[in-house]
Amino acid sequence: GGAIGVLGGGQLGRMLSIAAARLGLKTHVFAPEENSPAFDVCAARTIAAYDEPAALERFAAAVDAVTYEFENIPAETVERLVDLGAWVAPGAKALAVAQDRLREKEFVNAIGARTAPYHAVDDLASLEVGLKKIGRPAILKTRRFGYDGKGQTVIPADNGDLRLAWEEAKRKAWEEIGARPSILEGFIDFACEISVIGARGAEGDIALYDPPENRHQGGILRTSIAPASISEETADEARRITAKMLSELDYVGVIGVEFFVLKDGAVLVNEFAPRVHNSGHWTLDACAVSQFEQHIRAVAGWPLGDPARHSDAVMENLIGAEVDSWRECARTRQLCLHIYGKDDPHPGRKMGHVTQLKPRGSPRSPQA
Ligand code: ATP
Ligand code: MG
Ligand code: MG
Repeated sequence: GGAIGVLGGGQLGRMLSIAAARLGLKTHVFAPEENSPAFDVCAARTIAAYDEPAALERFAAAVDAVTYEFENIPAETVERLVDLGAWVAPGAKALAVAQDRLREKEFVNAIGARTAPYHAVDDLASLEVGLKKIGRPAILKTRRFGYDGKGQTVIPADNGDLRLAWEEAKRKAWEEIGARPSILEGFIDFACEISVIGARGAEGDIALYDPPENRHQGGILRTSIAPASISEETADEARRITAKMLSELDYVGVIGVEFFVLKDGAVLVNEFAPRVHNSGHWTLDACAVSQFEQHIRAVAGWPLGDPARHSDAVMENLIGAEVDSWRECARTRQLCLHIYGKDDPHPGRKMGHVTQLKPRGSPRSPQA
């Protein structure tokens, strides 16, 4: 024993490992890819497929608790680890709900929060029924495995050939993530997008960060601005829903809940991630206790820390070749630079991020 096991070796696992090390705790990262960014900074590593029985057995024996930084961990991997006696947080229910957009929407509505209207789709006929119910424009997504907007197709308002649109959506989803489009959502004309990074400790204590506004480009998060310029009522409602989700899921760890804010200030839940979240990276520099430390605290059974924000912040992802601007960023005062140590800056790949800090309550710059 002695370490926190982390399934997944990307930048989130890397930042979790750094946060653990700062608290005197060790992480043992389990990931299939040899050059995983988290391997540079963890105390122990296993390079193996998620379904390799002997590797899972050794991993379970070597760690005190297991968490994950990637929500597409096969459910069987988590089941196997639980059978081997590992304590896994967040638990199997949260993972199963988050992995399936249909279950996720049913869950959110069942706890009294709202989502976009939706309809399960598996062929042209069900797509037609869904469009009648929801109207246009609408958006087709896969139930599973989507990230960074991949596998999604907008069905525009004007009436094109639906058969062609369906074939195109299937081809795109298959090429991008190897899955089928299977849920139709109403296209929300939102005022802005926000998220709540929340945490629940092993004893049921809850900590919630102030919601940032999130801007996407090509389906990928580009900028998070903390705090979002929304009313106190809207922020409270998003926090209240997040807290309810945490307790209903009997959750331990950090969650990232994404919301659409409507023009009247009401919020719809878009989706949630059962892990630390890109829109919470600003907490590394603008809060005494970051989302990564908060997650490690929860999983290690520590009390949660104070989520208060000491500064306002604007976080920008460095995507693909943008990471080449690191020298310029490094020269700029009040930019906090984070680079993930990935060697291949291919287009769309998250290579690092920078956070600009400002005194609390500073006016926004014109572009923000
Ligand atoms: P990630 O997990 O990386 O956040 P994802 O692939 O799971 O992304 P979503 O969060 O579902 O994708 O969608 C990505 C973005 O596309 C959203 O943040 C939003 O900007 C836009 N979008 C998604 N669904 C809708 C919708 N129903 N109406 C309007 N815009 C949407
Ligand atoms: Mg998602
Ligand atoms: Mg999303």
